[in-house]
Amino acid sequence: MNTATATNLLQGETGEWELVIGLEVHAQVASQSKLFSGAPIGFGAEPNTQVAFVDAAMPGMLPVINRYCVEQAIRTGLGLHAKINNRSVFDRKNYFYADLPQGYQISQFKDPIVGEGTILLDLPDGSTREIGIERIHLEQDAGKSMHDQSPEKSFIDLNRAGVALMEIVSKPDMRSAEEAAEYMKKLRSILRYLGSCDGDMEKGNLRCDANVSVRKPGDKLGTRNEIKNLNSIRNVVNAINFEARRQIEALESGGKIEQATRLFDANTGETRVMRSKEDAHDYRYFPDPDLYPLVFGQDWVGAIKATLPELPDAKKARYMKDFGLSPYDAGVLVADRANADYYEEAAKGNDPKLAANWVTAELFGRLNKEGKDIESSPVSARQLSGLLVLIADNTISGKIAKTVLDEMFASGKDAAVIVKEKGLVQVTDIGAIEAIVDGVLAKAADKVAEYRGGKEGLFGWFVGQVMQASKGKANPASVNEILRKKLAL
Ligand code: ADP
Ligand code: MG
Repeated sequence: MNTATATNLLQGETGEWELVIGLEVHAQVASQSKLFSGAPIGFGAEPNTQVAFVDAAMPGMLPVINRYCVEQAIRTGLGLHAKINNRSVFDRKNYFYADLPQGYQISQFKDPIVGEGTILLDLPDGSTREIGIERIHLEQDAGKSMHDQSPEKSFIDLNRAGVALMEIVSKPDMRSAEEAAEYMKKLRSILRYLGSCDGDMEKGNLRCDANVSVRKPGDKLGTRNEIKNLNSIRNVVNAINFEARRQIEALESGGKIEQATRLFDANTGETRVMRSKEDAHDYRYFPDPDLYPLVFGQDWVGAIKATLPELPDAKKARYMKDFGLSPYDAGVLVADRANADYYEEAAKGNDPKLAANWVTAELFGRLNKEGKDIESSPVSARQLSGLLVLIADNTISGKIAKTVLDEMFASGKDAAVIVKEKGLVQVTDIGAIEAIVDGVLAKAADKVAEYRGGKEGLFGWFVGQVMQASKGKANPASVNEILRKKLAL
């Protein structure tokens, strides 16, 4: 059982409240064609150009299951350590809506393709927390109504109708909006590693319904409200926090929470009722008579399992064990597969911790500033590796290396070339450094006297002066050592 930590509790007027969250995530399968038709899928295509007869519910058309989509659902289940059900059933979920020409959505109800699993959250303090997965089922997306094209007409675009979605349902295991955000990030990371969904929330390929309730710690679960269609992690966090406060205030002023489906308005930051439980839908689910139950052998599941890549949790554990990285650094590096690949190439032959620092702090910092990602990095992993070699063999100091990296970003040149062109080779010759130190001390006799009189805080000032006099090129360790010796005289 998951128990709330004290820091997660919310303060109300009558004491502390515990927030309970379960997420239902719709992840669009990254496939070339739809779940039950061969119509293509592409973002931004002209309306109604990617529609097969069956997607438009033409009479007599029959759905045919897309093997690739089934495989992606199995991959996703395996990636979430979940039970794969070798027999599952497609049901009709009946409701009327203009963008749903069939009058029903083909989904899975009682017998989903994937059963219980788990996902591990990486929390900001470096700890982890396990969240339960309830199920994953396959279903069709609906079409899209367009009300903003004409003052008196509405239009329907069926390009999305029939696109395969995986609905990934969590247990009510999360206890704060931040945990819900971490859940979304981790799930997106795993989906991208697997390649089963591109995780693009801006395009609507990954969206989330958040179920939120509150209770006094130790009480049984409270009545939940479901906030529909959250399309960014920020909206997930803001919607949950608003909804939690709303429920606490309602309960503390003597009210009751009615189960309802709500919408989040990102402009006002508020949730409002879309439909209440009283008029809740009765979908009249029944098995789709056009489709056989979906049955496959364990050998296929095994074959799919054999093709899974190393996933973020395993990669993180390996980085901590083999490279000695902190849980935090390892977590940052493995979250994105391209980042992890870059890191491993840059670290090859170098000190892995030094490489981790340079990738997470210096490289990511500069990429962030320029709004670039690792794929468009002006500095390749091999080039960063070259810079690390120069630091490790004392050709340049870490400080100079930062300016070299700036230059590499701007010019695309190799580190060694820049160091040579600009004459940045570090001064490691003891005699030369001693001469610079002597010069600095001679000019600051008063400070030397103060230091020797007990003002030891001045040491850093001397280091600064020597580094400046050497234009940053003196080896800092030697500078420290020589200064200590000379000042002690
Ligand atoms: P439905 O299919 O009607 O939406 P489910 O029982 O499948 O209902 O639950 C959907 C989601 O709601 C799941 O993610 C689950 O974890 C979450 N959930 C269930 N009960 C609660 C609760 N009391 N508070 C918060 N979330 C809940
Ligand atoms: Mg629901």
